[in-house]
Amino acid sequence: MNYISTRGKYEGKVTSAYAIKCGLAEDGGLFMPENIPHLTADELRSLISKSYNERAAFVVGKFLTDYTYDELLLDAEAAYAEKKFGSFPAPVRKVDEKLFSLELWHGPTCAFKDMALQIMPRLFVRALRKTGEKREALILVATSGDTGKAALEGYRDVEGTKIQVFYPTDGVSVMQKLQMQTQEGANVSVKAIKGNFDDAQSGVKRIFADAKTEAVLNQKNTFLSSANSINWGRLVPQIVYYVSAYLDMVSSGEIAFGEKIDVCVPTGNFGNIFACYIAKLMGLPVEKLVCASNVNNVLTEFLACGRYNKLRDFYATISPSMDILISSNLERLLYLVAGQKKTAEYMERLAKDGEYTVDSDIFKKITESFVGIYTDEAETKNTIKKTFENKNYLIDTHTAVAMSAAERYMSTYKAERKILVVSTASPYKFAKDVFMSINVSSCDLPDTEAPEKLSDLTGTEIPAPLSSILTKKILHPDIIEREDMDNAVLDFVTD
Ligand SMILES: *Cc1c(COP(=O)(O)O)cnc(C)c1O
Repeated sequence: MNYISTRGKYEGKVTSAYAIKCGLAEDGGLFMPENIPHLTADELRSLISKSYNERAAFVVGKFLTDYTYDELLLDAEAAYAEKKFGSFPAPVRKVDEKLFSLELWHGPTCAFKDMALQIMPRLFVRALRKTGEKREALILVATSGDTGKAALEGYRDVEGTKIQVFYPTDGVSVMQKLQMQTQEGANVSVKAIKGNFDDAQSGVKRIFADAKTEAVLNQKNTFLSSANSINWGRLVPQIVYYVSAYLDMVSSGEIAFGEKIDVCVPTGNFGNIFACYIAKLMGLPVEKLVCASNVNNVLTEFLACGRYNKLRDFYATISPSMDILISSNLERLLYLVAGQKKTAEYMERLAKDGEYTVDSDIFKKITESFVGIYTDEAETKNTIKKTFENKNYLIDTHTAVAMSAAERYMSTYKAERKILVVSTASPYKFAKDVFMSINVSSCDLPDTEAPEKLSDLTGTEIPAPLSSILTKKILHPDIIEREDMDNAVLDFVTD
């Protein structure tokens, strides 16, 4: 299967290995497969009895046709090993008769990014070999918190790669910051920048587009690549857990084979929910995709009226991994629905005017599958409290945004189908806000004491990767101006 750019300004078609190696297409667009492969009912049925890793090798193999099934199975087995994820990497938990939670945070950094970033470095190293690449790869990452740590864990000490992560200094939780500042590994660099996530992301995009930097790096036998969800290698492993969750709901008897479900995803960069859309296009029986946002509700507005407008106030919320005004992967949806020419036009308008409005037929097609609902801070906190007290289920702030959206969706649309809410982080990753949401009369407590308090209050256990963090040494204290990101890259490579 070949890959092309969402913008179609260069004629090239490339292999999946090449798309994973490069991250972005040469015209600034994102790589997409030329067509979406189909999962037949027989194939789906045959996966019911298979392990997660076998499901992963099969589904990923539909897209990465220049990788063998055995290679993919080996990579999945290494990525989702029991010592990293426990007995099953993506379990479905029944919350009530109609609502189910797909828990994607049982990996080493306690957020769903692990699902992709534990396997992607393995796919990436194979991609270097498959494309005959001799240079070293420098993986550049802009993060709103969770991607950075997950990418650092995924790429640490991976041969032939270096990884550098930029995060907004005031835009991540204390736990997220500690996770990154204490990162070990000989090939890692972590910098806080003065600015928000979009500043970090624009900075990384600027560096990618800069021919001068590229030439300097090339002299040092290095090239740039990305681990952000704009890389196809990030997206394709995310399709797997939707297929897997559906099959698990079938085998536990919660739905009949072929029965449609709705899915609600807490959304930031539109990567996770887009992976679900691909699963739907492949033939997974999913009806509606509920796109849940926090008060940075640029996507909700887009799904309500067809206008995408990034020129708005930015809010730092208690669900920081969704504090995003430019949802990069929306470009992939536009490409699928509107084609390359229109996508290029909209992206140009977004860069120039900060907004675009899609044609009405395109809008109609998008809203056939997608519904947008946003949740404010008070409702997010209230949902954490209610869900714990009424359902005995402890959820983090991001999952709460989706849980609230799912409940509102079901009551507003009178939806009869069962709904799968995607749970994207361990409550302990955002322990302070979770604790204070349940124990509303509590005084402000230090972030570092929150996990212990939350554990006492709820009788649940602190995940091991988070309980050890407080005693680790800070290795990456730097805070830099966003203009200095380019220099940080060059310094790191010259090191
Ligand atoms: C990254 C992240 C999200 C948003 O996912 P996208 O793929 O960017 O839409 C939601 N919740 C958590 C906890 C995350 O880390």
